[in-house]
Amino acid sequence: MSIATNERAVVEAVDPRLFVGGNWTDASGGRTLPVEDPSTGETLSEVADASVEDARGALDAAVQAQAGWAATAPRERGEVLRRAYEVITARRDDLALLMTLEMGKPIAESKAEVAYAAEFFRWFSEEAVRIDGRYAVAPNGVGRLLTMKQPVGPCLLITPWNFPMAMGTRKIGPAVAAGCTMVVKPASQTPLSMLALAKILEEVGLPGGVLNVVTTSSSGKTMEPLIRDPRLRKLSFTGSTEVGRKLVGQASDQLLRVSMELGGNAPFIIFEDADLEAAVEGAMIAKMRNIGEACTAANRFHVAGALADKFAARLADRMGAMKVGRGTDDGVQVGPLIDQAAREKVDELVGDAVSRGARALVGARAGDGRGYFYEPTVLADVSRDARVLKEEIFGPVAPVAAFDSEQEAVAAANDTEYGLVANQGIVSNPAAPFGGVKASGFGREGGREGIDEYLEIKYVAMSL
Ligand code: NAP
Repeated sequence: MSIATNERAVVEAVDPRLFVGGNWTDASGGRTLPVEDPSTGETLSEVADASVEDARGALDAAVQAQAGWAATAPRERGEVLRRAYEVITARRDDLALLMTLEMGKPIAESKAEVAYAAEFFRWFSEEAVRIDGRYAVAPNGVGRLLTMKQPVGPCLLITPWNFPMAMGTRKIGPAVAAGCTMVVKPASQTPLSMLALAKILEEVGLPGGVLNVVTTSSSGKTMEPLIRDPRLRKLSFTGSTEVGRKLVGQASDQLLRVSMELGGNAPFIIFEDADLEAAVEGAMIAKMRNIGEACTAANRFHVAGALADKFAARLADRMGAMKVGRGTDDGVQVGPLIDQAAREKVDELVGDAVSRGARALVGARAGDGRGYFYEPTVLADVSRDARVLKEEIFGPVAPVAAFDSEQEAVAAANDTEYGLVANQGIVSNPAAPFGGVKASGFGREGGREGIDEYLEIKYVAMSL
């Protein structure tokens, strides 16, 4: 194994077992699954590979802890989150290194994610004590209405690999604050950040069974029985639209409360009177944050005909100058993609665009050697029927398509089944009710609205 001593230390500090009912346990049969460093393809660690029975055990623990946690004072629930926020912040460097090792993004971006992830705990520590209801007079003047909010009950939270910690805290924070217990299933590529987070929550006094973490190589097989289990009351999923559709189908049997944070296809529009340098600057952030592996990443650039060539050339200069490499190395701005399949998909989309007449100004090739690198790529003259304009790229590729009129630009921007974000790269923060429409899903995460996803409104009718 060729990883550095400090890297090995942060990996070895993670307990690779399942976290169920406040105990760290091996998967049944001692089965494990490998976690890879995408910059080398080497195995970093082996974590527990849960079976259906293991996952059911996690739900058992969540169900058992539910009543006690719901009855815990809101201030106490909030304080747990607040303490976790402090510990995450204090350990930011180690957590960032761990994240870079399993996910590939440059250290600076991992540090930014750790801070962003911790902020959800701070925000929801403050929201825990603001769960209220209302009192009103019924229209007939006689009755009185009293409403109160209660935790929905045990939740299943499924998270993706692209933001291994923040996509977890954006769900765990409001669930803990609302008084819900939960089973969390991180993506099999990036379970270490979630296991490290679970350890911190244990350390700061979250009672056993409130949070249970299940890692598995067979997510479909192990999660479906939980989704169909009548004791589960809520499913919150962040991931692809394809999987989201499947899970909504499974959840329909018992009419589960469902939140879906799914894929995107963000347009970035540049009109003729734009300041070119400002447009390029904005484009770099919107495209290249997280190596382009973000649901919010600008997926396509619609540029006024008069500016299109100049913009594409300037963007190609900037993207071509980016340093590609292992996220732990100094000055690296672009890490590897998550795995070989992701890289093949990116290459396929680029190939399709080029076969339809696009010009690659820079990049358009996989990196040499180990790891799943792909060179930052700018494609000019992309035709309207190219797949790269329709499908989520999830990589460092910027397709530029020219438009003639404002109407054409707006029509092209809206010509997608998705609806998540446009013209801006960083939109989610703890105070914002982030979420999509259409094939980008439903439900909101963050903001005052974020906690409502984990609360039921109970109405009490009173007669005077
Ligand atoms: P994914 O393949 O849909 O996986 C997401 C999660 O679902 C992972 O934990 C995965 O586990 C699990 N999963 C996969 N198949 C499942 C099944 N049949 N039953 C239950 N769980 C299943 O997505 P991804 O590739 O990890 O993430 C990228 C996607 O997430 C992109 O489409 C991106 O746009 C979207 N995303 C959306 C937001 C948002 O806020 N809207 C934020 C971030 C990412 P395994 O990997 O272990 O199979």
